[in-house]
Amino acid sequence: MDEFELIRRYFNRGEPNRPDVSLGIGDDAALLQPPPHHELAITTDTMVEGVHFPAGAPAHAIGYRALATNLSDLAAMGAMPAWATLALTLPQSEEQWLENFAQGFFELADEFDVALIGGDVTRGPLTITVTAHGWVPTGCALRRDGARPGDLIFVTGELGAAAAGLKAYPAANRDRYLYPRPRVAEGQALRGAASAAIDISDGLLADLGHIVAMSGVGADIRLDRLPMAPALAQFDAQAAREMALTGGDDYELCFTVAPDSVAAVRDRWRQNWPPVTEIGIVREQRVLRCIASDGQLWQPDTTGFRHFSR
Ligand code: ADP
Ligand code: MG
Repeated sequence: MDEFELIRRYFNRGEPNRPDVSLGIGDDAALLQPPPHHELAITTDTMVEGVHFPAGAPAHAIGYRALATNLSDLAAMGAMPAWATLALTLPQSEEQWLENFAQGFFELADEFDVALIGGDVTRGPLTITVTAHGWVPTGCALRRDGARPGDLIFVTGELGAAAAGLKAYPAANRDRYLYPRPRVAEGQALRGAASAAIDISDGLLADLGHIVAMSGVGADIRLDRLPMAPALAQFDAQAAREMALTGGDDYELCFTVAPDSVAAVRDRWRQNWPPVTEIGIVREQRVLRCIASDGQLWQPDTTGFRHFSR
């Protein structure tokens, strides 16, 4: 099976499923029609075997997760996902692996009505790069730099589920590490209400750290308010707290809201969405502090994942 046969068999599903795709897979470039009065939001994530997922992880999960992390970035901008490209580097072309990978990818793509509009296939160490495109009404994107002192800090869902899933790997299969849920509808609901937002890919402390740094502020987090994933119960309290704050890969949203916009967020939040929990407050003083229930400050041993860190 050569590169073109591979694309035809696994990735080209014929007529694109969206009317805004004038030309999909097959030509030198795709042709797309972004709606008027919207800005395009574009994001890329690369996943390398052995770095971003364990060697030998299920192909279905890899396909799902490669798109999920990108949709999570669009969600954190308040954008509506529309299209994606897929650059795939494979050590060999193995039919069952490709079949499962494509199934995982398209399971999520179909759920969020994302059209695969192009890509690339090369031979080499297993590496997957997805670029996702979405849109957002002009001027309405959620950015990292809008947090102001007095804003309240929220997170969606639970923290530490992915870290617990990774620790248990490969015992668990469809867990929150392998199958993160991008909070797409939730992100869009925050437009015009949240002052800043980010998705939690590197751990709450690291990612909230980006919000406060880019906004020129600091924050206090209340440790007793953190929505701890049930799977953390099997670890001792210190390890569980560490995993919730620095574990990464949860792909929940962390966002800040001015006090007079909190009611709007609560109003828009749907019953079947993951809970939204208030975990702290933005401060003028440019430090990020974790405060335990007894008022003591708490410091983690690590701050979250960084490539090239020593
Ligand atoms: P070119 O050499 O002009 O870059 P390719 O031969 O690499 O084009 O790709 C042919 C067509 O197949 C292009 O439309 C490209 O976007 C698409 N394509 C290649 N790889 C993938 C993939 N993994 N998934 C979806 N579409 C792909
Ligand atoms: Mg090419």
